[in-house]
Amino acid sequence: MPIRTGEDYIESLRGRNLKIYLFGELVKEPVDHPLIRPSINAVAETYDLAVREQDLATVESSISGQRVNRFLHIVQSAEDLVLQNKMQRKLGQNTGTCFQRCVGMDALNSLHSVTYEMDEKYKTNYHKRLLDFIKMAQTENLIIGGAMTDPKGDRSKGPHEQEDPDMFVHVVEKNDKGIIINGAKAHQTGCINSHWIIVMPTMRLAEADAEFAVVGAVPADAPGITYIYGRQSCDTRSMEEGDLDSGNAKYSGQEAMMIFDHVFIPWEKVFMNGEYEFAAMLVERFTCYHRRSYVCKTGLGDVLIGAAATIADYNGVPNVSHIKDKLVEMTHLNESIYAAGIASSYQSRPLKSGVWLNDDMLANVCKHNVTRFPYELGRMAQDIAGGLLVTLPSEKDFRNPETGPLLKKYLRGRKGVDVENRMKILRLIENMTMGRNAVGYLTESMHGAGSPQAQRIQIARQMQLGYKSKLAKNLANIKDDEEGRPEHSEYFERVFKIGGYENN
Ligand SMILES: Cc1cc2nc3c(=O)[nH]c(=O)nc-3n(C[C@H](O)[C@H](O)[C@H](O)COP(=O)(O)OP(=O)(O)OC[C@H]3O[C@@H](n4cnc5c(N)ncnc54)[C@H](O)[C@@H]3O)c2cc1C
Ligand code: SF4
Repeated sequence: MPIRTGEDYIESLRGRNLKIYLFGELVKEPVDHPLIRPSINAVAETYDLAVREQDLATVESSISGQRVNRFLHIVQSAEDLVLQNKMQRKLGQNTGTCFQRCVGMDALNSLHSVTYEMDEKYKTNYHKRLLDFIKMAQTENLIIGGAMTDPKGDRSKGPHEQEDPDMFVHVVEKNDKGIIINGAKAHQTGCINSHWIIVMPTMRLAEADAEFAVVGAVPADAPGITYIYGRQSCDTRSMEEGDLDSGNAKYSGQEAMMIFDHVFIPWEKVFMNGEYEFAAMLVERFTCYHRRSYVCKTGLGDVLIGAAATIADYNGVPNVSHIKDKLVEMTHLNESIYAAGIASSYQSRPLKSGVWLNDDMLANVCKHNVTRFPYELGRMAQDIAGGLLVTLPSEKDFRNPETGPLLKKYLRGRKGVDVENRMKILRLIENMTMGRNAVGYLTESMHGAGSPQAQRIQIARQMQLGYKSKLAKNLANIKDDEEGRPEHSEYFERVFKIGGYENN
């Protein structure tokens, strides 16, 4: 039976016997672990949304011929990409955290074109293998994790130059049945909550890095995989009695380190094996999709704006001019992120394999805004919230017969507001700006899909300074030299080579 609801999904994770370490101990059943469960609930919402809002979160697939969850769909139009963004914003609004399913979605879509173009060049069979894998995942409605980021060791060196080759996942053995890989992947979003993991290279590779040019799908419970759970600030609050101190008790994100110790991948699940020159194409297409997927953060921004407006109201200052202006500014920043993401999706084009790819420049602008604006939204939400945000006593003090009545007396806001509700909204702002979900709202916004400099490099590559300089010179009536060469410095010549002369 395919997985349909969130509840089905949660049951599908039971009994897999994953080797997961948390606080130095093996976890028996992650599904029942109070620290892990909120992250599972967030993924479950991607199933429940598909039941409640079929037009938004499901779509007809030309691969399996079925109506499938949008996270498993290969996009075939600009509208498909736009609807991905709308679904991501909605899920951000519903969970207030990272719902963990987009890395796999963006990996499948980027591999669709890259495997096709590898086959075209090398007469390999990768595309057909990938389509079979996608069909299986769509039919069973599975969660696919995307494992790209290697530990990387010394960042000034490439994979083959590292002292320890395990700093990047690599092939250690090949036989007639498949390949065997070693290494690790860091910061893996939702890996423990996934059914399958797609392993991919993390950067452009050289010929000497061929053994690191490997893409393959492994079941999350494959022998040889160890997970070490990542800590999030205030995460143990979800292990305490009561929900109030958590701020968002139901939902959280999840990251873990994955270690691969001689993990076997059969040939039918191998989608790249040594074609090092296609690693750059894969990373660029993946980040192109994924950097616009970060409109997910506008859903979280909506929650934070709502929380800031609510606490202002509870405090009795909803109409004060600077508060209203800060809420306008928060909204302006949030919508600026969305504008770039959705524009990138609209401005998409078909590739040879039939999949559509969104606009790279606008995707990078979207993600670059995400590395900054949520921090600014967080700053303004904290401003509006007041200092109680960080000095609020615990739920246990609130329930204590001696201190409870004192807190109810002295933590009152405006007349008619329940003190407990005031505490709840403050805890939510704390959760999103410095607690558990600040991982998803702030630091993931900074580093996920590449740190800020990675976007600046892509923006510099595509900024078309040559073309823009020509526009300016035309209007200023500056002519090329006698041989028709534009007059510019050597530095500009280098920039033009990267940025191009033409408006493309
Ligand atoms: C919450 C979270 C979730 C994530 N989820 C996933 C996931 O699901 N799958 C996945 O594959 N990855 C995931 N990532 C990884 C993410 O893509 C990386 O964090 C990001 O690419 C940065 O790599 P790093 O963390 O190793 O930082 P570092 O490489 O250590 O970078 C730190 C700083 O050094 C700079 N730097 C590094 N190397 C160089 C260099 N050679 N030259 C100049 N400057 C350099 C960077 O620009 C940055 O400013 C996630 C990250 C986070 C934080
Ligand atoms: S950070 Fe956003 S885009 Fe990435 S997996 Fe989480 S919800 Fe999806």
